[in-house]
Amino acid sequence: MSKLKSPLCIDVSEILALPEGEYCEITIHQQVAGIDSPETLSSNKADITAELKIIKIKKGIYLMISGVVMLQLICARCLNIFFHEFKFNIDAVASYWISDNQIKIENDKIDIYPILCETVLLNIPTKPLCDINCKGICQNCGKNLNSNGCKCQK
Ligand SMILES: [Zn+2]
Ligand SMILES: [Zn+2]
Repeated sequence: MSKLKSPLCIDVSEILALPEGEYCEITIHQQVAGIDSPETLSSNKADITAELKIIKIKKGIYLMISGVVMLQLICARCLNIFFHEFKFNIDAVASYWISDNQIKIENDKIDIYPILCETVLLNIPTKPLCDINCKGICQNCGKNLNSNGCKCQK
């Protein structure tokens, strides 16, 4: 794992001071790097745009995140790099006493980088295709058959 400083630490001190049930909403637009990339990811970066609803609850914070991720993947057939976009929704609890699947509140901050990374990784297809009809590469001459084809075809 990289030791990057998380770009997605959110100061929640104001929310923690609110009465239960109150909330605030923020928008993030961030390029996150340092994703432990599988081979299908062309760079270890993702562009994330998300709306966060941060609700004060008794034991901490309830987080509702919905957003869009834009990635560059490598086509499993033709090896071209293409953009892949997907939407996601995450609900999570942040508290001072962390248990499974929770985010820890530390120094009045929460770090949503790990759950966003996990979401990105879970949504990367194992065999990404630039197009469902991608023709791939000619086994014989190595040309990308999506553009002009090749002369090997009978
Ligand atoms: Zn392709
Ligand atoms: Zn060919």
